[in-house]
Amino acid sequence: MGTPVVVMFDHYSVPRENLLNRTGDVTPEGIYKTPYRDPSKRFGASLGNLSVGRVSIIGFGVVYLKKSLTIGVRYSAVRRQFGPPGKELAVIQYPLQQWRLFPYIAATYALDAFSKTFNQHFIDFRLEAMDPGDKDRLALFGQEVHGLSSAGKPLSGWLARDCIQECREACGGHGYLKCSGFSYLRDDNDANCTYEGDNNILLQQTSNWLLGVWAAARASPAAALFPMHTTDFLQHADALLALAWTTTPITPHSTNQEVVAVCRQALQWLVCWLCHRTAATLDALTAAGQDQFSVRNNIQVYLAHTLSLVYVKWAAASFPEGSAERLWQAFRKALLSDCGKFKLHTKTAPTFVEVYKLCHIYALMSALDTTHHHLPNYAQVALTWFEAWVQEAHVSLQPVLYRLCALFGLNQLEKHMTPLVEGGLVVDRSLITAAQQHVRRLCGELLPDAVALVDAFAPPDFFLHSVLGNADGKVYQHMKTAMFTAPNATSRAKHWQEMVYAVPPAKL
Ligand SMILES: Cc1cc2nc3c(=O)[nH]c(=O)nc-3n(C[C@H](O)[C@H](O)[C@H](O)COP(=O)(O)OP(=O)(O)OC[C@H]3O[C@@H](n4cnc5c(N)ncnc54)[C@H](O)[C@@H]3O)c2cc1C
Repeated sequence: MGTPVVVMFDHYSVPRENLLNRTGDVTPEGIYKTPYRDPSKRFGASLGNLSVGRVSIIGFGVVYLKKSLTIGVRYSAVRRQFGPPGKELAVIQYPLQQWRLFPYIAATYALDAFSKTFNQHFIDFRLEAMDPGDKDRLALFGQEVHGLSSAGKPLSGWLARDCIQECREACGGHGYLKCSGFSYLRDDNDANCTYEGDNNILLQQTSNWLLGVWAAARASPAAALFPMHTTDFLQHADALLALAWTTTPITPHSTNQEVVAVCRQALQWLVCWLCHRTAATLDALTAAGQDQFSVRNNIQVYLAHTLSLVYVKWAAASFPEGSAERLWQAFRKALLSDCGKFKLHTKTAPTFVEVYKLCHIYALMSALDTTHHHLPNYAQVALTWFEAWVQEAHVSLQPVLYRLCALFGLNQLEKHMTPLVEGGLVVDRSLITAAQQHVRRLCGELLPDAVALVDAFAPPDFFLHSVLGNADGKVYQHMKTAMFTAPNATSRAKHWQEMVYAVPPAKL
């Protein structure tokens, strides 16, 4: 064991050559120089670089969502309770259990696509930062990365927090067992809500940035354009704010694609309306003589705080646009390049479940096997079969992904219905009933695929480490084994004598 070392500096000059000088430098004569004339742009370029922690934490939240849902959904498919006379149903068959869990499956897929897309953008940003061609673009990129990550981290951390709790309760008393694994998930995710910036404070970073973009875009619409395109729609704020749904845009006959389009437009409208309302309140409080600190404090509740969350939900709902196609292309590419590993014996079109299982196997094998680039030649035969396979499967993958996308969108719509009505977008309130009908329908339609959807992202059993969530579904055998193999499970506790006290003699 090494001895811990503490290093403290007092009036120590760091040599000029050791400066981290990407956005500013000091000449030998002691003059500060920066390639950015505009200090806010320099700040923007630096901000993005500091976002790595928050961008990563969005992905951590996705992991906790996946782990808790794996336990919650698999257990719900095994646990039986009441049913019609003479029957016991798996609790996952109850509409209430579906309504509690399935929106989190949808959110997990949405957030997973969001996290991966955002990571890709972030890598692009870091590469551009190493060799900036267009410094103005880099500054805008940095601001957008900062704004999006500061709201993405709260969204992810809070979704995981709520999902872990819902899944724990969905497993009833068994969810409370230590060997269910929920307590570890809860502990591990908890810090995500605080470190790298407390979630509530981070949302203020996003709203401050959005309000700046809003003000600039009112003067010049092009100011809403950023490299990841997450605020482009603010250019059309006037047209969006002029909308009023006097007849419900969602009917019982709406397709999932149509539902997704409506939800996306509602979230866009809401960002514009909250920007407008928050900026107006900010101006009014400033005009009333409040100092900037008080003004910023007093615009949070119902306004700036909600604004940031709606913005990131819009982005999360939008990144998966085309995600069915993107997901598919990524899987397809990966499968084709690695198909020599799988010996396929059939040419029949796979079901959705089979394709997902295959993709899951691929992901696991890729993670565990570093030699997968050296494929044997027989891969060519399998490759041909694979191609036929996967091309057939493409169509079957779309409907279920659209169901998830629609459920995620409707869930966000429902969560923000108050300002949608208050602000005047939703005039015909039968939209609320129509949205509820679609949520119920989607939950029912997702039931046959629920376990497969979870299997597709579930980690291996040893990593999940939960007696309730093993892939074989043998909940009770695993519980029994865990209980009988726990240290001292069948013997007296070592400290039993300390607990014994002399029983006073009976007086009778
Ligand atoms: C597990 C863990 C690991 C950590 N690791 C590190 C690390 O490696 N390095 C490091 O430097 N730090 C680390 N931290 C510290 C972490 O970054 C801070 O705890 C975090 O930024 C919150 O700051 P705080 O604790 O001072 O909270 P406070 O600022 O005291 O906040 C307390 C409460 O007040 C609210 N609040 C505060 N200001 C406002 C405001 N203006 N408006 C509205 N509400 C407000 C907050 O929302 C919060 O609910 C870690 C923290 C944890 C929990």
